[in-house]
Amino acid sequence: MKRLEIIKELEKKALQLDPNPEQKAAWNSKVHEYAQNYLSTLDSSKVYRGANDESHPFDLNEAPIILQDLLEEQEKFIDSQGINAAAGGHMGYIPGGGLYPSAMGDFIAAVTNSYAGVYYASPGAVQLENALISWMCRLVGYPKSAVGNLTSGGSISNLIAVVTAREAQGLKAKDFSNSVVYLSTQAHHSVQKALRIAGLGESILRYIPLDENLRLDVKKLEEFIENDLTSGLIPFMINASFGTTNTGAIDPIEEISKLAEKHKIWFHVDAAYGGFFKLCPELESKYKGLELADSITLDPHKTLFLPFGSGAVLIKNKMALLAVHHYLADYLQDAQGANDQLSPADLSPELTKHFRGLRLWFPLKLFGIGAFRSALSEKYHLAQYFYSEAQNISHLSLGPTPDLSIVLFRVSSGNEQTRKLLKIIQDDGRVYLSSTSISEVFWIRVAVVHFRTHLKHIETLLNLLKQNFV
Ligand SMILES: *Cc1c(COP(=O)(O)O)cnc(C)c1O
Repeated sequence: MKRLEIIKELEKKALQLDPNPEQKAAWNSKVHEYAQNYLSTLDSSKVYRGANDESHPFDLNEAPIILQDLLEEQEKFIDSQGINAAAGGHMGYIPGGGLYPSAMGDFIAAVTNSYAGVYYASPGAVQLENALISWMCRLVGYPKSAVGNLTSGGSISNLIAVVTAREAQGLKAKDFSNSVVYLSTQAHHSVQKALRIAGLGESILRYIPLDENLRLDVKKLEEFIENDLTSGLIPFMINASFGTTNTGAIDPIEEISKLAEKHKIWFHVDAAYGGFFKLCPELESKYKGLELADSITLDPHKTLFLPFGSGAVLIKNKMALLAVHHYLADYLQDAQGANDQLSPADLSPELTKHFRGLRLWFPLKLFGIGAFRSALSEKYHLAQYFYSEAQNISHLSLGPTPDLSIVLFRVSSGNEQTRKLLKIIQDDGRVYLSSTSISEVFWIRVAVVHFRTHLKHIETLLNLLKQNFV
């Protein structure tokens, strides 16, 4: 066969990848129906459903299958196992979200496939992402000159911050084993992981003890820094948590920032869980000093209720972030334009990336910021309500007054009984809680974070607790 005939034959087959409008409409309607069905059964199915005995090979074949079969597999092997992350009863770990308009944004981003890494390739997509970062910078009180990046999650945000801090502080490999990082025992493990990935595995980690509210003790921090300076070590970075994952505690940001400034230490605030609560007017005062941080991690897939895969990092010093991530490649020579819009590719390790901005833009615009303020305030008040009501349940002991929307409680008679109670709650299945240990004390956590968590879920939990004496 001549090459042209071969091409024509292949084209006929390749066209399968671009179905006609009727086919697409039929698929859309089936997928839409599947999603609606899933959402309509959220309150009647268990929040934790265990793992199927039967596992699926998830193998691939040369031949196509029909959408109906594919959705049946989806239902059976994916959507009926494990934690139901879209359910309002999910109050374990840090629940995510799954706002519907984000799915619409993702749909359009996948169809148009805008190249959001470089301004030249999609000026609109990059401007949109930069505008979202600017909005977050204004929210935390950063100056106009601050920059940032929409990442895939808080762990990558922490990694970008750590690498930026390393370069900005001028650390060289020979300094690593003398460099000191200060963090509390409640810091998220992704910070230690980021340090290791950043080559700083040899650095010295100083775990600062906590005060009675499980916040980093500033006096102790100061003592550690002064001792380290006397010993000739290099205090390089302080990591504070704005809302720890375990208990939601807020470290004393303003006081820590003074120490960081005095000793020229990079100050990173991990606000992956807590950051967006700043939208709530009644919580505003807790955020004093946040703007003094050199870098801040936020996680829209937590407290902006987005589907997983949406984080953000903000860096106050634009040149510091660019110094690590900006790169000129020969084959990108057409993409170097003169404009004041920075490209995500120059601000993060990624080049080609998901156009994450759209899944954030759609819900923020369609619902308006006010809806987010209300939903976050609701979570805060639900947690406070649970905290005060649970005090009236005689066999329970409560953790510290929640700073944000995470409450700890346990059975007063001991760890064993608390474990049993957690099992009863998980087996009941209407709500899902997880646990933690602090100084060998076993606690059950209630994390009120999901946008579908409302008063009825808290009442269900309170009733369960009142009925079950263990
Ligand atoms: C969840 C969380 C992280 C990690 O974020 P991912 O989005 O899960 O990667 C980091 N820090 C804190 C405080 C968190 O709550």
